[in-house]
Amino acid sequence: MAIAVDVMDLSKRYGYRWALKDVTLSVPSGGSLGLVGPNGAGKSTLLRTLLGLARPSKGNAWLNQIPVWPRPERALAEVGGFVDFPRVYPHMTALENLSLWADLTGQPRRRAFEALPLVHLKEHANRRVVEYSHGMRQRLGLAVALLKRPSLIVLDEPRDGLDPARQEEMRGVIEMIRNELGSTFIMSSHVIQDVERLCEQIAVFDAGQLRFFGRPALLGASQDEEIIWEARPLTRALGCLQDLGIWAHVTRDGRLAGCLNANRDLASVNALMVKRGVLIHTVERRQSSLETRLLRYLEDGHVQVR
Ligand code: ADP
Repeated sequence: MAIAVDVMDLSKRYGYRWALKDVTLSVPSGGSLGLVGPNGAGKSTLLRTLLGLARPSKGNAWLNQIPVWPRPERALAEVGGFVDFPRVYPHMTALENLSLWADLTGQPRRRAFEALPLVHLKEHANRRVVEYSHGMRQRLGLAVALLKRPSLIVLDEPRDGLDPARQEEMRGVIEMIRNELGSTFIMSSHVIQDVERLCEQIAVFDAGQLRFFGRPALLGASQDEEIIWEARPLTRALGCLQDLGIWAHVTRDGRLAGCLNANRDLASVNALMVKRGVLIHTVERRQSSLETRLLRYLEDGHVQVR
């Protein structure tokens, strides 16, 4: 299978600090990669290096076998335009922006009309983009993607600044566009569920190092079951689990997720919580989520898997 994006021993230093250190990974044509990891892990730096915006200190990246550095415009032209949104002209309307892209890429202008409803912007078509919210601009960027039909789409934290309803909508739009275009797709996100849904492979970064690269299902696959408690007060419940040496974290929806090892009995854990004045509303056993596995993985200090 052809390799669309190849990153080899890529390092980037800002002053005395390595934002990226010896990163090697590749994405096949039409494949999808999600970059995850805490803030400052190096995800944006990697994307910026791929897009010709940050020059590596060491190593290089290739797009369709063409080196990005030292002449990024050559490699980027080869991918038929890429999407690094939101890159649109703020003083033009959405329709004007899209018509311009249609003209530039030699496509009929009706494509501009067709793209707007797909990203839920039809009723805002004639408003200037400067008046748009962040989320609307991002969706317009995706409409540009539909027109440009790039072979590479790069999205850096596409959810940033969106309210929860818009986030869900944005996820749907990205999914639709990815399926529609079949482009190679790379995104970074701190929302692990998005990456899991949209990407075949994940790259986990921490402090500039690539800690894991592969299919999400393989990340910490041995920890395959977790317990979810809906319990109050949350901090007291968490304290109980920690006192028992049980690894646990608070989930995005305010519950507790913990992993019990084989010699720990759930009933006695619950009994201790109740004894300490914790109210347990629900307890659920489930296949451990990628979020839980990722957090444990980072805490356990695993090294890179290639
Ligand atoms: P992430 O996208 O994972 O949050 P970044 O790639 O933005 O992380 O940042 C990685 C590290 O590089 C951080 O320590 C950040 O402070 C540093 N960094 C990023 N860009 C610059 C820059 N232009 N100048 C100096 N340091 C930078």
